[in-house]
Amino acid sequence: MIRYTKNLQKKREMKNKLTTKQRLAKADKEMLGIVRKYLNRHGITVRKWLPYNDRRSSFRNVVYEAYFDAHQVSIPIPIDRYSFYVCMHEIGHLVRGDRRYGYVMEYVAERWALDRCQKYGYFTKQTERFAKQYVYRALLEDVVFRVHPIDKIRQDILDWIGCTAEQVRRDSIKLGKIMLTKRVPRPEVLVFNEKDIVDAPSAYKALIGISLEQLNLKASK
Ligand SMILES: [Zn+2]
Repeated sequence: MIRYTKNLQKKREMKNKLTTKQRLAKADKEMLGIVRKYLNRHGITVRKWLPYNDRRSSFRNVVYEAYFDAHQVSIPIPIDRYSFYVCMHEIGHLVRGDRRYGYVMEYVAERWALDRCQKYGYFTKQTERFAKQYVYRALLEDVVFRVHPIDKIRQDILDWIGCTAEQVRRDSIKLGKIMLTKRVPRPEVLVFNEKDIVDAPSAYKALIGISLEQLNLKASK
């Protein structure tokens, strides 16, 4: 969790007041060209060019998003390798067209985005690490909030993240417990939308399921 001093907050608000044109003028020309190429190629329009400061603050008040029905994206101005990757992630959602929601949809978009980063020389290990963490968080959400069975998680995705189903089970229990004791925002939106509060009943249901699974495992041993 990142906390901001009032000063930083103010600075960011000032930055956000720039017009879209002013912000676009600051884009990395080469990156912007690539982003526009993919937008054109797939007939995607930009709903909003959003401000982008750095990887942490960018997720604070701003939601980057892909709109499937409108075939639109809200993306940051690409100014560095990380913002370029965020652009590719949102475009990737529409290009791949996977609408199953949850961790598989995020995984598909991440892979597409990372491939593009690699293709244009903007790939970094840090970006890849972030992508894996992002898919892992989405996966935990699916288990805890949407009661996704742990034994049905795609093994290839677990392998790519570099974790085991056992780890998912343990972290889901932890997350479920936090959700039950505190009204905290869902992890996916933890940093950008505080109105989006988890509903305790689904966390409770998932927690019971995971605990039962664990009890059964222990009982059968
Ligand atoms: Zn996404």
